[in-house]
Amino acid sequence: MSREKYLIVFLISVLAVCLPLRAEGKVIILDYHTFLGNGKSNIDYSEAELAEQLDAMAAMGYKFVNLDDAIAGRIEGKANIAITIDDGNHTVYPAFKDVFEPRGIKPYLFVYPAIVIGHVRYALTPEKLRLLAQAGCGVGAHGYHHNAVTDKTWARDPKDFMTEIKRPGPALAKILGAAPTMFGYPFGVYSRRAEDAVAAAGYSWAFAADDKVTQVSFDDPGLDRMAVPRTITYRYNRNILMRALKDYLAYDGPPLFEAPAAASLLPGEVAK
Ligand SMILES: [Zn+2]
Repeated sequence: MSREKYLIVFLISVLAVCLPLRAEGKVIILDYHTFLGNGKSNIDYSEAELAEQLDAMAAMGYKFVNLDDAIAGRIEGKANIAITIDDGNHTVYPAFKDVFEPRGIKPYLFVYPAIVIGHVRYALTPEKLRLLAQAGCGVGAHGYHHNAVTDKTWARDPKDFMTEIKRPGPALAKILGAAPTMFGYPFGVYSRRAEDAVAAAGYSWAFAADDKVTQVSFDDPGLDRMAVPRTITYRYNRNILMRALKDYLAYDGPPLFEAPAAASLLPGEVAK
């Protein structure tokens, strides 16, 4: 074989190996909330528990990736975890400095601006939110007052429903200088009407959340861009989560779980 032919065959082989890897980049998107460590909430972890959980995931072979990189296809293989944190609790800042940043993790924050602008005691201040954004954490909208954008809310008051979708973008832009491009549904629940309204408001991606451990492939043409599944890291569910993460590494087949159904089909809203 001539040198040129050899080179061509070599390049084709390299492409054949690399392309499917890129196309099959998968990620599990985790959804944390607060880091008070007072043992009172099912969605709360102490910083020590958080660090232990993240280190156990890394020890399994998982790599922590940015949500933006996962969306842009800049991930390979299936051992990827993207961290998101909902609400904008004040403990997000110290947890970032103490736990996430030393591990090179930049969580994506879904914030409802009413508590930030209102300087509510348990919320991040606008200044702390800006510092997190400057440190590389993406910031998306999470409603405005944290009302569920379900058909029930619409039936009660369509104006309240639309406030949750229309108001957080300009409010976050005022704090951060740029409008968010991603939306995380309050309580993780949504409706068809919410998906349409979020898309019409200009968001590129919207995220649901429930207790199922779901692998996401952003280049899957069947993925609903307005309802990408995330996994809420409930305390009661943490052993199941770790087992599922381990099982995914050993498993090579179709998705183990279906994406969550629209909120109207769910038996009830996710309690917080
Ligand atoms: Zn929330």
